Amino acid sequence: MDSNYTVLARKYRSQDFKSLIGQDVLVKTLTTAINTGRIAHAYIFTGIRGTGKTSTARILAKALNCLSTDGPTASPCGECENCRAIAAGQHIDVLEIDAASHTGVDNMRDILDASQYRPTNGRYKVYIIDEVHMLSTSAFNALLKTLEEPPAHVIFILATTEIRKVPVTILSRCQRFDLVRVPVETLKQHFAWIAEQEKIELSDAANELLARAADGSVRDGLSLLDQAIAQTGGHVDEQAVLDMLKRADRGVVVNFMETLLSGNTAAALAKADEIYTNGADLAMLLNDMMEWTHWATRMHPAIHAGEVNNSPYTADQREQIKKIDSNVTLNTLSRIWQVMVAAVPEMQASGNQKQCFDMLIVRLMHIADMPSVTEILKNQSANKSILKPVPQPLQHSTEPVKIKIENANDLANALQESKEILLYSYYTSNIEVVEIKEHEIKYFDRRGDADFAHKLASWLNDKTGATWTLKRLEESQHTHTITEQKKEEIEADPMVASAMDLFADAEIVGIK
Ligand SMILES: [Zn+2]
Repeated sequence: MDSNYTVLARKYRSQDFKSLIGQDVLVKTLTTAINTGRIAHAYIFTGIRGTGKTSTARILAKALNCLSTDGPTASPCGECENCRAIAAGQHIDVLEIDAASHTGVDNMRDILDASQYRPTNGRYKVYIIDEVHMLSTSAFNALLKTLEEPPAHVIFILATTEIRKVPVTILSRCQRFDLVRVPVETLKQHFAWIAEQEKIELSDAANELLARAADGSVRDGLSLLDQAIAQTGGHVDEQAVLDMLKRADRGVVVNFMETLLSGNTAAALAKADEIYTNGADLAMLLNDMMEWTHWATRMHPAIHAGEVNNSPYTADQREQIKKIDSNVTLNTLSRIWQVMVAAVPEMQASGNQKQCFDMLIVRLMHIADMPSVTEILKNQSANKSILKPVPQPLQHSTEPVKIKIENANDLANALQESKEILLYSYYTSNIEVVEIKEHEIKYFDRRGDADFAHKLASWLNDKTGATWTLKRLEESQHTHTITEQKKEEIEADPMVASAMDLFADAEIVGIK
């Protein structure tokens, strides 16, 4: 590579509004304003790094000062003296100030004092203040004074990545433009075009990886591309980019998640070893696992999230994810998500990422394996094993099974098993059963629904083949409802206690 190699981000910096990548709304608003002569005295551009804030500022400065027309133009020529000087950052009337190194009030006062003089070669004096949120309070105050009564020939263009740190008093005097994250597709098109100009090979899969890793920033994407070109001598393929990003292939991640959710801890740990040995960065892997979980949740049959074709997976991988999905609940996905989110700072803080990651795997397996609180409650109320859901006995529709009801719990279970949801929920939350014997129930109804006795009696008669009498007491005997009983039992259960520990703010809000 020759010694005057210009980095791609600089070489392909946008020089006019037309070539600004992915900022259509901003371009349209700004060009319309310039074409109709509505020029503001102060602009503020905000957005993540590398989306084109300073490029836009320079294009705007050219638009204001281009000599090809009599006044400001939305399509600066790029060739006149002013356009060329501004593009090179050398125009006498266009000052680029990096707020990070001019934070003090004295600096700002000097700069602002000079703004009183008329421009030398241009129509406007343009002050581009980059990372403006870094200014000190007193510097902001000095700037505010000028913004309140700006000289007619002065335009301020402020740029920041952190708009919330800019005082409202400043913001209220600026026209604000938000530069958006550039979409993956737009980045890909741009990178493919540059590859063509540079006569390098860039495979579609490699391009996709770069565009996703850029996370909406043209500049970040281009410096990754620079790096990939340097490492491969101009033959950029998927494997090269994966190696460079220290990333496992998405297919590897999908397979890994399949193993993890299958509940085989030893296999999952062995797979983690293998991925690690192949050079993947484990923090990046965790990131990919979170990405997987997000998309698996969106693809889950219980959600019907619609369009998932913009997920980063191939059609085959999507099929595989759907298959995995059919064996896990949304609840499991959301719990492993929570644990992974919590592990992000842990991984960063830990001196030994591999150890930290292994422990994370074990924790995730434990969670994927563990029944949810709801499942525990279900199993408990059916009076069955906590760990394994037991298949419900089949009901034969030809010959109804006559059931026995001898206490308050029997009644709750029977109602639940026959899916009498309304009766069940009313019964478990409002009814204090005082006594059940020989087809007679003595109870107190906290809500006093007259219909309840009628409905329950007819259901009982039907189910048991006997005739039931329901005696409603006028006063509470202070016995617990089924829900209250269950809640107490469950809170005392060590399994639930450990589940509650995992989610600090959890409380049992309902029993289903
Ligand atoms: Zn020009």
